[in-house]
Amino acid sequence: MALIIPFFYSFGQELSYYLPADITYNASIPTPEQVIGHHVGEWHVTHDRLVNYMKAIAAACPERVKLEIMGTTYETRPQLLLIFSAKKNLDNLEQIRQQHLQLSDPAASASLNTDNMPAVIWIGHSIHGNESSGVNASLLSAYYLAAAQGKKIDDLLDNTIILFDPSFNPDGMQRFSTWVNQHKSKNLVTDPNSREFNEVWPGGRFNHYWFDLNRDWLPGVHAESQNRLKKFQAWRPNILTDHHEQGSNASFFFQPGVPARVNPLTPEKNQQLTAQIATFHAKFLDKIGSLYFTKENYDDFYYGKGSTYPDVQGCIGILFEQASSRGHAQQTGNGILRFPFTIRNQFTTTLSTLEAATAMRRDLLNYQRDFFKMTSQEGAASASKAWIIGEAGDKARTMHFIEMLLRHKIEVYELNSPVTADNYNFEKGGAYIIPANQPQYRLLRGIFDKTLSYKDSLFYDITAWTMPLAFGLPYAELNAAKYTTVVKGNRVDSLHLPAGEIKGGKTNYAYAFEWNEFYAPRMLYELTDNGILAKVTGSPFEATTEQGRKKFNYGTIIIPVALQKTDSDKLYEMLKTSAAKNGVQVYPLTTGMSVSGVDLGSASFVNVSKPTVAMLVGTGVSATDAGEVWHLLDQRFNMPVSQLEITTFNRVEISKYNTLVIVSGNYGELSKEKLKAWVQNGGTLICMEDAVQWAAQNGITNITFKKVLSGTDSAFSLPYASKFDREGSQLNYGGIFRAGIDTTHPLFYGYQHPYIDLFKAGKTFPEKSKNPYANPAVYANAPLQSGYISKENYNAIKNSAAVVVSTVGSGRVISIADNPNFRAFWLGGTKLMMNALFFGRIIDAGSGRSEE
Ligand SMILES: [Zn+2]
Repeated sequence: MALIIPFFYSFGQELSYYLPADITYNASIPTPEQVIGHHVGEWHVTHDRLVNYMKAIAAACPERVKLEIMGTTYETRPQLLLIFSAKKNLDNLEQIRQQHLQLSDPAASASLNTDNMPAVIWIGHSIHGNESSGVNASLLSAYYLAAAQGKKIDDLLDNTIILFDPSFNPDGMQRFSTWVNQHKSKNLVTDPNSREFNEVWPGGRFNHYWFDLNRDWLPGVHAESQNRLKKFQAWRPNILTDHHEQGSNASFFFQPGVPARVNPLTPEKNQQLTAQIATFHAKFLDKIGSLYFTKENYDDFYYGKGSTYPDVQGCIGILFEQASSRGHAQQTGNGILRFPFTIRNQFTTTLSTLEAATAMRRDLLNYQRDFFKMTSQEGAASASKAWIIGEAGDKARTMHFIEMLLRHKIEVYELNSPVTADNYNFEKGGAYIIPANQPQYRLLRGIFDKTLSYKDSLFYDITAWTMPLAFGLPYAELNAAKYTTVVKGNRVDSLHLPAGEIKGGKTNYAYAFEWNEFYAPRMLYELTDNGILAKVTGSPFEATTEQGRKKFNYGTIIIPVALQKTDSDKLYEMLKTSAAKNGVQVYPLTTGMSVSGVDLGSASFVNVSKPTVAMLVGTGVSATDAGEVWHLLDQRFNMPVSQLEITTFNRVEISKYNTLVIVSGNYGELSKEKLKAWVQNGGTLICMEDAVQWAAQNGITNITFKKVLSGTDSAFSLPYASKFDREGSQLNYGGIFRAGIDTTHPLFYGYQHPYIDLFKAGKTFPEKSKNPYANPAVYANAPLQSGYISKENYNAIKNSAAVVVSTVGSGRVISIADNPNFRAFWLGGTKLMMNALFFGRIIDAGSGRSEE
């Protein structure tokens, strides 16, 4: 083969540039350009054209491929799955799948003979939409798998089931392809400053709601992940590939990653097999002269990532990272990096993966069988026999947690008797049992365990994600003695939010509903949006209901019938409908005289108005943090939030918003005078993470911050080679910290325990306010629950404020030092966020009393 010189690349879009030369191709299979209208790598393929091609392949080659639609994205793009295999396998696909699944069932796998079973390989592309060489390479891989002829492809298709996912993130890749294609010049411009290489905010990396889908495999919050997880669990593949891109000056990375940063729950054998597969990538990339590296930079730690999630399920996840040309061709330190070159490396490593899978088929199948045998034995031998989890007072939050477990085919059982463990009372209907003795034992450990010791102090992503803490749910591990006292009910296959109802008939006096249920704020929004006047309870009371006496806590919502413009029949119907769908119980009250505590006409009941919310977005703002707020309000609470660009904010009338959200970001261009005047006039400003510091630095609040002493401050000199590691260990990648909370404060209405576990990353450590009523959440002396933190950063967190309320004129600033909405699975922080939106306006931080 001739030396590859730059001249050659300009013709590099021809198929011959990419494909193995020693193979013939079936002429009846359409080439990509025949369907999409351009050569591979000449333009960035758009999602609709990609779909057209995959459909064309499936239609032309039914003997080798089956096309399935896994589901659709938020923007209604189909998520395709092509299943490539030999005809004899495709004809028996369901039988093969069932047999394959037996590998993860120790009861069935012992008698299984893997000699003639195909391996199952998932090939996945570009979960980050702007890392586009993967998705463009999928055109070539699909063509190759459908059209290649000869013994090699026959062997491959006989011995494997290939689950082929051309685009992990259709909405993001569509956004990105539109951007780069619209800036492409006929004569390619390679200047990195050019607009083609500098996407407009929020960029194509994310899905519709600006989430990083490569953090969502475990939480499974998003449509894309949920659809994909169904297929993953239906098949439990042996290898899953995850094709990404990295910085333009790099080369090509494939796993294994940094050995010290492999999650300890991932078996050693997994890494050995990964290394063995890596020899195939090396051989294939050597042949085309491409540089690469392994065991550096990238970790294998967080099970929410696509290349790590499989590692705790008897599968080998493989991360590929190609240096990105971003656009069509870009100047880099290594010369001009052309898009076709990047596509070719991705395609080549798909071929090397498939060759490895064929060669290692039995090893991979046996490994999966052994893995689940081992995990089941570990679970059976474990001192903890089960986990119990749930909050009877918040069925929706409990339900969302159990839904997450079910997505991973974890066995969950109903609880049929009350149990007290770790000082929590778990009730029938409000808690669930998860036995340790089950094949997904290791994944369960990855979900429930707290992690406090690490081999390394450098991380690629968060250091802890203990899910019960994130969801803010009471949980306990049950030992053998305790477990024998538990009455287990039916296995849970699916869960629905129990419908709420009006606990009694129509009243002409008042209705009350409590604030502890997750979707109570959604109900309140519906009501206030329909013009209903609602009041919130700032002092508990006990009332007579049709069920007898009932205590109503802080945050209970009261709807006095006589104060409404809506007639009482309509009000009753509205409440009934809203209660049913939001899982909230509504209590009719017939008298204003309470049994104890305040009466219903007391000034302790304060009117709650509808939040009219805007959030600052655009260049400089953390897209994922903003996306979390957008997703929370739009998807979970059906509440509109206006997205204001900073330039728009500076220009428009903002008095129509009563609440403004500023997430982490850089707000240098924002008009501080305008913002401050708006707050002084009664606005509620909610600041999070480093936006808390921005507001203080710009005189909007007078919060002060703790100084962090770095470990290098006292050192005279340090080895240069340790610089990266030392500085990296001082970053706060994020762990879980417990703050004590004041449940009588409006920001913590609805919380049922005197603490909140928050995800804390970054370096915002506010000092407590001198006003004793203005610190409703404070980190104590030993707040770390799970995660890595340097000594210096930890000292700064201790006794710092998690939430500070500042009064500014007739408005307020609510400063939340951390991110209560983290990745949309931190449901333990949701009520804090909703309280800030609904009750921010009624907090009087000065006297501790609430006024409208
Ligand atoms: Zn990526």
